[in-house]
Order: sequence, then C-alpha cells, then structure tokens
Amino acid sequence: MTETPTTGPAQESRAVHRCESLRRDGTVCNRYVATLWVDGAWRCPSHRPRTNITAPGEAAPKLPKPPVNALTDPADALKLSSWAAIQLARGRLDHQRANALATQCREFRRCFAVEARHKQELALVAAWELAMNAEEAGDRDTLTEARAQMRTLFTQMGVPEKNYRRPNPEPDQYGGTR
Ligand SMILES: [Zn+2]
Repeated sequence: MTETPTTGPAQESRAVHRCESLRRDGTVCNRYVATLWVDGAWRCPSHRPRTNITAPGEAAPKLPKPPVNALTDPADALKLSSWAAIQLARGRLDHQRANALATQCREFRRCFAVEARHKQELALVAAWELAMNAEEAGDRDTLTEARAQMRTLFTQMGVPEKNYRRPNPEPDQYGGTR
C-alpha cells in the first residue's frame, strides 16, 4: 500500500509505504516507519529477515570491534585498513563497509601527509627567520643552531643536500650573494 500525504505547499511530500506483512492475529501490520521493499513487499523492521534489518537511521547490526579507537597517525590507519581486509576475508564485514573503511584510511593518510609537510614547511620558515635574525645580530651560536635545524628539516623533507663550497671561506659569509 502506498500513500502520498500532502503536508502543505512549503513542505516536501514523500511517499509513505506501510508494512504489508500480517501480524500474528491476521491483521495487516501497517507500520510505516523505516519500511523497506524486501522480497516483493513493503516490510517494517520487525517484519524483515535479519540480514535486511537496517534502514537509514536505524542502528547497525553488531560489527567486529576495530583495533583502534582513533586515527592519530598513519600507523593507526594502516592497522584499521588491514584489519578491514581481514574481516572482509572472514565474512565479518561486507564489501561496502570494508571499501568505505579503506577509502577513509587512504584519505586520512593523505591528509596526514599534507599536514606533516605543512608543519615542516612552517618549521623551515621559522628556522630561516631565526638564522637571518641571528646573522644580523652577529649571534654565531644561534646561527649555527638555526642552520642545523634547517639541514635537519631539509633532510626530513627529502631536499637533497648539495655540497656548496663558499667562494669566500671567511666565517661571516653564510648565505652566498644577495
Ligand atoms: Zn510490519
């Protein structure tokens, strides 16, 4: 049975499908909340086979417990996606959920990489500024420290180290020509 209630011009009207299953006393159920078309009839959650029990907004069936409670670093995402693959192989997760998890984990790793890169870039800018200020102030110790920070960051960021020979080996020449 299908009814289309009109709820006023400003509101959306939507089809309501009442459950067509029979109750124990022989009357039609008629519930319309969360009905789904299953096996050729509209059925409410209590008149559906267990495998089709969930509709949007309903609680999901009990799923295996994931190995991590939060994604805080790429290792967590890796753990979760390999777990999802194993659960899928064991039939404890369906393809849709396993794929969704894999996609989420991939997206997390991508965002994490971008975020990590961004932090390195900010640290490099800060070290660069420190070096410039130290040079201006003639603070040799801080300059040495700042340059060490920059070298570390370049290594982390995969910037190849170039052997730069100063044209003038005087200790007050640091950055080449301006
Ligand atoms: Zn029903």
